[in-house]
This record gives sequence, structure tokens and C-alpha cells, in this order.
Amino acid sequence: MKVTDYFKNSQGQTFVSYEILPPVKGKGMEEIFNTLDPLMEFKPPFVDVTYHREDYIYSENESGYFEKVAIRKRPGTVGICASIMHRYGVDAVPHLICGGFSVDETENALIDLNFLNINNVLALRGDARHLEDKFIPEPGGHKYALDLVKQIDAMNKGKYLDSNIADGAKSDFCIGVAGYPEKHFEAPNLETDIKWLKKKIDAGADYIVTQMFFDNEKYFAFVDACRKAGIDVPIVPGLKPITKRYQLGTIPRKFFINFPEPLVKAMMKAKGSRIKEVGTEWCIQQSKELKERGVPCLHYYTMGDVETTRKICEAVY
Ligand code: FAD
Repeated sequence: MKVTDYFKNSQGQTFVSYEILPPVKGKGMEEIFNTLDPLMEFKPPFVDVTYHREDYIYSENESGYFEKVAIRKRPGTVGICASIMHRYGVDAVPHLICGGFSVDETENALIDLNFLNINNVLALRGDARHLEDKFIPEPGGHKYALDLVKQIDAMNKGKYLDSNIADGAKSDFCIGVAGYPEKHFEAPNLETDIKWLKKKIDAGADYIVTQMFFDNEKYFAFVDACRKAGIDVPIVPGLKPITKRYQLGTIPRKFFINFPEPLVKAMMKAKGSRIKEVGTEWCIQQSKELKERGVPCLHYYTMGDVETTRKICEAVY
């Protein structure tokens, strides 16, 4: 079933959904099952699986020189989605990115997803590789998520890259895209970012999942601004509990978001196991308020931390 159909038929209920990462290469599906088994009790209609492109690292060779080597640390998104759907009977949403894909490779990936009856996809651009200072599209690949949305929408209409294909099989993808309550770091301002977000919706995207945020007011203001800009699709809040003090520095650096002062103060004051409790409690309060305000779904970035995610779900559901 499509993500948006769950929302349409929700009768006002706020769903829960989880986002998981593929295991690092060399690890098996048990890692995913160990995360999801204890969380299934809260009946998520869908689970997202992130995509991690090949990246470069510098590795020392036998002569002592450093050379650039390509590695793909976490392969496997599509296979994991199929496996989740088979084991739990829920829908799985693979993240599909522009980075590392030519448009032909994207088309082939979409065809595979369609054959597997995976009808939901989160369409993203992807980030720059670690050794590059800006996002560089694959030769013959998409530059923005907008172009990826357009390609998926075209396939939904039976249009393939090869214009000789007449009467092409129509896929039926429900397309999610990313939104940023505190704006995407490359956007000059929130208004411009929302203008591009609207273009993704106009091109065929069906719903939005937000970047994590720790101040609900940022989410509510973002939703208001989207509605004013004419975006009328569901906007799913993405949530992540902060569980370690050092994340006060790493999360803003990596995700370009702010922590509210009361949370910072409480995290700085807490000691030992209290640190994790403070972050978890904050996420519980955020979740409760969002649920009360009738959001369609609470989407948790689990990062493999099943214990904390479970604690939050127990308190909220
Ligand atoms: P876009 O929508 O393309 O936007 C990128 C920037 O360009 C923005 O600043 C926007 O304002 C601007 N822009 C957009 N369109 C245009 C245009 N046509 N012309 C000019 N400017 C434009 N990354 C992964 O690698 N794998 C994942 O699985 C993954 N999952 C994610 C899930 C969520 C919910 C979120 C919020 C992010 C995720 N990311 C993931 C990270 C994401 O790939 C990065 O944030 C990336 O930098 C931007 O992706 P986007 O799809 O928002 O890009």
C-alpha cells in the first residue's frame, strides 16, 4: 500500500514509522531484524531504508603511498526492503538518490523495485562525497532530487527513457521527498528552499519527510510556510533522540540544525546515564506534542538504537 493511502485511511490516528540503515558490509540481516523485531509491536505501516553511495577514502598502499580508494560501506537497500516486506508484512520505503546513478541506472533500479512490488520510494539528491566539497552528479545523472521525482513520475505515466517504448508499463510509485524545517544548508534562505520543495511536489511528489529537529516550533512554522506556499501534501516530522553529550557539537555540524537552549543546558548538567535519559525524555515530549497536534506519522531515525526508540514508542503509543 502507498504511504499516502495509510494517511488517507488513518481516521485521525498518528502512525509511527522507522528509518533504518543497511548493515555495514560483512554483517547480515540479523542486525536489521534485531532492531525491528522489538519495534513491530507499535505497528508501523512502513519502514524506510536509507541508501549509502560509494565513497572515497585515502588508503596506504604497500609502497607507503596513500591512494584514493572507492568503498561502499553499507550496500543493500533494495534487498533489505524486500526482506522486511516478506518478514513483517509491512511496506518498505527504499531511499533512492541521484548521486552515483546515471539516469539509465536509475530507471533500471525503478524497474527492479516495480518488479518487487515496492511501490513507495523516497527521492533524494544525496550529499557530496567526503573528499568533495560539493555534490557532483554522476555523468548523465540527475543534479537535483526534483529531476529524480520527474523521472519517477514519468515512469508512473508509462514513459521510459527510450522514446521508442510505446505503451510502457505504468509504475505506481508513491513518491516522498525531503524537507528541512531549518532549511537545507545550501539554500540561501528558507523561502527559496520551500520554492524548490514546491517544485518537487508539483512534479509529482506525494509527501514530505522532514530533517530531524529538536524544537517543535520550527516544524510548525515550516508547515505553515509550506501551506502558505501552496504545498498541501502530508509533512511527516523526522525525529531523533540525542543520547550523547558530544552530539551537541556533531549533529549541528553534520545536519545544520540548532539545539534549543533548555535542551543544551539540561544535557550539559546531566551526568552518566542521565544524559541519555534527558535526550530521550526530550524526544518523548516532542513526540507527544506532535501527536496531539495531529501529525500523520512520527518518523524515528533509529540509527540502530532499538532500546531508546522502544522507550519513546512505549511512552507515546
Ligand atoms: P534537493 O531537493 O535536490 O535540494 C538540494 C539543494 O538544492 C537545496 O538547497 C535546494 O534548495 C536546492 N535546489 C533544489 N532543487 C533545485 C533546483 N532545481 N535548482 C537550484 N537549486 C535547487 N542522503 C543519502 O545519501 N541517503 C539517504 O538515504 C538519505 N535519506 C534522507 C532522508 C531524509 C528524510 C532527509 C531529510 C535527508 C536524507 N538524506 C539522505 C540526505 C540528503 O540526501 C541531503 O540532505 C542532500 O544534501 C539534499 O537532498 P534533497 O533531496 O533534499 O536535495
